Amino acid sequence: MRVTLQTLLDRSANGGRLSPDEALELYLEAPFHALGRAADVARRQRFGDQAHIATYLIDRNINYTNVCLTACKFCAFYRAPKHAEGWTHSVEEIVRRADEAVELGGTQVMLQGGHSPELGIEWYEEMLRAVKAAQPQLAVHSFGASEVVHIARVSDLSFADVITRLRNAGLDSFAGAGAEILPLRPRTVIAPLKETGETWLEVMETAHGLGVESTATMMMGTGETAAERIEHLRMIRDVQDRTGGFRSFIPWTYQPENNHLKGETKATTVEYLRLVAVARLFFDNVVHLQGSWLTVGKDVGQLTLHMGADDLGSVMLEENVVSAAGARHRSNRRELISLIRTAGRVPAQRDTLYRLLTLHEDPALDPDDRAISHFSSTAPGAQQRVDLGLPTLA
Ligand code: SF4
Repeated sequence: MRVTLQTLLDRSANGGRLSPDEALELYLEAPFHALGRAADVARRQRFGDQAHIATYLIDRNINYTNVCLTACKFCAFYRAPKHAEGWTHSVEEIVRRADEAVELGGTQVMLQGGHSPELGIEWYEEMLRAVKAAQPQLAVHSFGASEVVHIARVSDLSFADVITRLRNAGLDSFAGAGAEILPLRPRTVIAPLKETGETWLEVMETAHGLGVESTATMMMGTGETAAERIEHLRMIRDVQDRTGGFRSFIPWTYQPENNHLKGETKATTVEYLRLVAVARLFFDNVVHLQGSWLTVGKDVGQLTLHMGADDLGSVMLEENVVSAAGARHRSNRRELISLIRTAGRVPAQRDTLYRLLTLHEDPALDPDDRAISHFSSTAPGAQQRVDLGLPTLA
């Protein structure tokens, strides 16, 4: 191994800052196992006496509408305004799903939907107030910078006004969705009508300044270069230096079915795992790193725990957006616990703020399997059901 690579690995594993060029060098050239080891050292240094733990949570994605005028090319979920298959759930239905999430042990809901020209700030406020009134303890970790841009346009408000009104109506934190790939070239190819990466970050910075924290995501595999992947990380790290408001970074892979982009995902498993490791080394200022079992599969998700990740995300009682594009990886609580345990870590259920709720030290005391991921059509009138039965481990 070249001295420079080892030096970079040693420095970043011990908390030293990598430049974007250095991160790219590690991403492209560092030996796989050495990269993973360095990321794991960085993770252990960061979490100290809790480094033996890896976390998961139970939440439900509630998609309130599939009507969207942003028409991202990678998206298999949306229908254009006036399309016969467009739908928008009633507030009552959204509350019913939130109630169901709590009944199944969920601690968080992610309200996510398209950019419908019919929905202005008042509709979002009504939805938030209703969910909070019904389930005040449920964390509403929802929407994202793209929704703020959309609502600001529909309701003729500033970003700060939209964020403040959403917060006052019950929003706890923003989800990191919509980041996709932030640099201009690849973003314009896959989502020409979406706000720019700079605007996405501007909204997040504004939100953090108003006390609304968020996560940050990255979708890889639509044809972006390695340098553009690292540039995405840099853009997030620069904002984080100013705000500290990103709680975690969550990379996932593009799912290629049923959309206008078509083609296979261009992120291999090794590229994904290398990106996870480099993210752990590069983000000296973002605490948590989540592996995406939903898009890369449970075995690769488990491997992320050896590449710097400390969290496997949610059981996902309901998910309809990436599953519409081909993600088929269902899971349940017992299985996520098992993945974490067989990766050599102690599983723990966490909440939205990453506080530990339950430490699963004794396998004999593992919880039942009522919390099972469930993907379905969310069209009004479609049969809606959350699986309460025994786990499917296949
Ligand atoms: S990803 Fe979101 S913004 Fe883009 S088309 Fe799909 S629903 Fe609309």
